[in-house]
Amino acid sequence: MIVDQKILLTEEEIPKQWYNIQADMPEPLDPMLHPETHEPTQLPPFLFSSELNRQEFSKERWIDIPEEIRDVYRIWRPSPLYRATRLEKALKTPAKIYYKWEGVSPPGSHKPNTAIAQAYYNMKEGIERLTTETGAGQWGSSLAFATKLFDLECMVYMVRVSYQQKPYRKSLMHIWGAEVVPSPSNRTQTGQKLLEKDPDSPGSLGVAISEAVEDAATNENSHYTLGSVLNHVVLHQTIMGLEAKQQFAKIDLYPDAIYGCVGGGSNFAGAAFPFLGDKLRGERKDLDVVACEPAACPTLTKGLYEYDFGDSVGLAPIVKMYTLGHDFIPPKIHAGGLRYHGDSPLLSRLTKDGYIRAEAYHQTDIFDAAMLFAHTEGFVIAPETAHAVKGVIDEAKRCKETGEEKTIFFLNSGHGHFDLSSYDAYFEGKLVDYEYPAELVKRALENLPKVG
Ligand SMILES: *Cc1c(COP(=O)(O)O)cnc(C)c1O
Repeated sequence: MIVDQKILLTEEEIPKQWYNIQADMPEPLDPMLHPETHEPTQLPPFLFSSELNRQEFSKERWIDIPEEIRDVYRIWRPSPLYRATRLEKALKTPAKIYYKWEGVSPPGSHKPNTAIAQAYYNMKEGIERLTTETGAGQWGSSLAFATKLFDLECMVYMVRVSYQQKPYRKSLMHIWGAEVVPSPSNRTQTGQKLLEKDPDSPGSLGVAISEAVEDAATNENSHYTLGSVLNHVVLHQTIMGLEAKQQFAKIDLYPDAIYGCVGGGSNFAGAAFPFLGDKLRGERKDLDVVACEPAACPTLTKGLYEYDFGDSVGLAPIVKMYTLGHDFIPPKIHAGGLRYHGDSPLLSRLTKDGYIRAEAYHQTDIFDAAMLFAHTEGFVIAPETAHAVKGVIDEAKRCKETGEEKTIFFLNSGHGHFDLSSYDAYFEGKLVDYEYPAELVKRALENLPKVG
């Protein structure tokens, strides 16, 4: 039987609203707290646009997508839903594997789905300059792309180890007109202090966040942006799951299992939440939702569900989430986009409540998975994405044993064209598997803010 390789939608079918899972949560999220007073707070208004702040705490199920944003989405959306027939065949699995491919966006990942929205709302409110941090450079390049389209300036603090390992994403940011400095930098007090202590600091997302926040707070007409974790980011990313739902409806299917990789949780939540909402409302019973993370940064599998700072020096609000501690400096694994110490509060809460389960994998295993994917489906995927593929391959093999004809869906979050040096390291046998020691997790967790 010949099956369609990809299920496509028309531009008219791009969703007109984002889905807000806060409307369907069994219980509301724990409040966001002020870093000093520990009183309930909003996102600092001197850092965030008021519309994004409204979305952060909204309980409305549907939030309209402005036509100007849908118009930019049309450059690459709707993204295709693929059936991975060749991967299925190689695995001899009775499972059907589908993936939504976000590598078609200009920066090559899912991140512009929110970058475009954030740039738009800030532009609307008269902001002229946006600051941010970036790990592997996916977020920085997405924000650079978005700010260019809406005529804003863009300042990016890039984690030093990635600045050195992934020079081409820095080039992308330059093409789209952003300024990029390695973090820790001497542009901020936070960076200066850290460089005094450790001139060779590899940096971390937590530190880069602190620098970008300090920059926005101390410069006129500047706001800060975050590429993951926050509720409004997750909201914007639901465009992917909503499109996927329409695509599955066209072939009269509904996934039994959903897989995605988790850094801060935005691509995973964006794909899974529109489906998980059906489960929360009792419209679906069986849905296995699996978050895939690195063993070297095992936030969901080894972290604690506690209040913690979003950044490493305690400038950002405190949120309840799975965390490895805000002063966690992760090992230099190649999936740079998955090295954040915390996770989305929404994703954390739903994991805590048992709606999502998590798995952790070693980097040699995820590159094995990425290689099988390239050999069968052709696409060279980002090391981050490879965590999801590893999870899917394990599940498809399990289905082979049991004979289950499950429908497995995963979010293929981006291409690996700027991660080729990581593939080279894999070929040369230079990848080191690193399990974050329980002892260090324990130590980092001793510095959690003491919330009453
Ligand atoms: C940034 C990134 C991730 C991880 O971020 P999330 O917020 O967890 O989605 C995953 N895949 C790719 C390709 C990325 O660029």
